[in-house]
Amino acid sequence: MTHRIALAGLHMECASFLPHVTHRDVFEACTVRGHAVLDRFRGSNTVMGGFLSVIDAAGAEAIPILHADGGAAGLADQAAVAEYRAEIVEGLLALDGGIDGVLLHLHGAMVTQDEFDPDAMTLDVIRSAVGPDLPIMVAFDYHANLDAASIDAATAAFGYRYSPHIDMGATGERAARCLLRTLAGEIRPAMALARPGLILPSIFSATDLAPLKDLVAEAARQSGDSVDYRDMSLFAGFAYADVPNCGASVVAVVDGTKATAEALAAELSGKMAQARAALSSAAPVYGLAEGIERALALADRSSRPVVVLEHADRANDSTHGLRMLLGAAERARIAVPFLWDPGAVRTAMQAGVGGEVTLALGGHSAPLAGGPVTVRAKVAAVRSDFTYRGTGAMRAGSEVRLGDSVLLDVKGLMISVTSLSQSAIDFDPFHQFDLDPADFDIILLRSKTHFRAAWEGYAAGIVIVDTPDYGPADISALPYRHARP
Ligand SMILES: [Zn+2]
Repeated sequence: MTHRIALAGLHMECASFLPHVTHRDVFEACTVRGHAVLDRFRGSNTVMGGFLSVIDAAGAEAIPILHADGGAAGLADQAAVAEYRAEIVEGLLALDGGIDGVLLHLHGAMVTQDEFDPDAMTLDVIRSAVGPDLPIMVAFDYHANLDAASIDAATAAFGYRYSPHIDMGATGERAARCLLRTLAGEIRPAMALARPGLILPSIFSATDLAPLKDLVAEAARQSGDSVDYRDMSLFAGFAYADVPNCGASVVAVVDGTKATAEALAAELSGKMAQARAALSSAAPVYGLAEGIERALALADRSSRPVVVLEHADRANDSTHGLRMLLGAAERARIAVPFLWDPGAVRTAMQAGVGGEVTLALGGHSAPLAGGPVTVRAKVAAVRSDFTYRGTGAMRAGSEVRLGDSVLLDVKGLMISVTSLSQSAIDFDPFHQFDLDPADFDIILLRSKTHFRAAWEGYAAGIVIVDTPDYGPADISALPYRHARP
């Protein structure tokens, strides 16, 4: 018998303290429906790509409904989220019972104007649509904020093991395999969640930092589906969503009893709680001026570039680091990949390659982003309506959409400016503009953890700087009202 599996996704990571709401038009730019879901994701390192590889290999039938993605920004618009939910439910109801299971991709850290846990609500309405018995397996981001109610309507839940998220496809595969084995009658999943009571700033959620590395390895080691089926997911949570269930969690899925799952989740969660102090100070963080001096000094005695990490930027347009590095343009060869500023791109494109423009660059998204920096720039390259397929470990095969984009030369400091907000995490942002990262001394990135897959083994050093922005390492500086740091 060929199993028929419905696929849907509704994905966004929301930082509550950013002032702008993400509306439907932003989601729509990265939303696909029906057959286009297959074309977008098949063969890519994404959750949907993972779902599809298992379904295809098993000879099951994938019935894609919708994959909507708002990226990572401020709150998701309630009306937009409600419309996408309704679209998924209508798609499921239109199948009129002709499906055997549902595979769902959620982030787990979405927040709207009205809902603290819209992902839970999405699961709830899907459960109501398909009835109490149909298996629903859900794959979440490792940065999901979950409590027991978040996953109550799911049959089983899974999270990425690693940040950088190099295993998004593998996570989709874990969820899909669990579904197919359940449908085959080989296993009967039971699930439980435990919370260590820990809120980790994103910068410390990198899974190659000790002791998180050991805890993540333990979750992976405990998992397996050869003899006794068992799957452990450790979630770091997302510190910048001000919601009651903000924080880390552990989910255990077993072929057995709920009590077994509860004991496993509680044990690993307890180890996280014990490691609280070390987890919350896993890497040194410097003030901006001190960090940049440190990076320049390191670059002076290195043959490879040094990464300066302006990690508190949540919109890819903060100018705290850029402003200070402009003052160092004569001391070092500096690159600033993927600064988000559609207005500056328009002005530069009008001037064309070789043209000179004066720009109020970056810092437009929000008050804490540092404000625009006035620069005189030469337009070094133009890319119209630009989309490429990623080649890095995390984005392999995935579409990266930049919109109209330009490369600017400001006194030798090279800045690629994009119309759509994208974070630079690997070497693609250089290669796509015919640059070689080896030609630079200092690289300013805004990533939290994902850059490590490409840069950790390559850069001469990584210098983390804290700036007065929306995602700081010191979360006690944030005006939480609902989370319990
Ligand atoms: Zn994440």
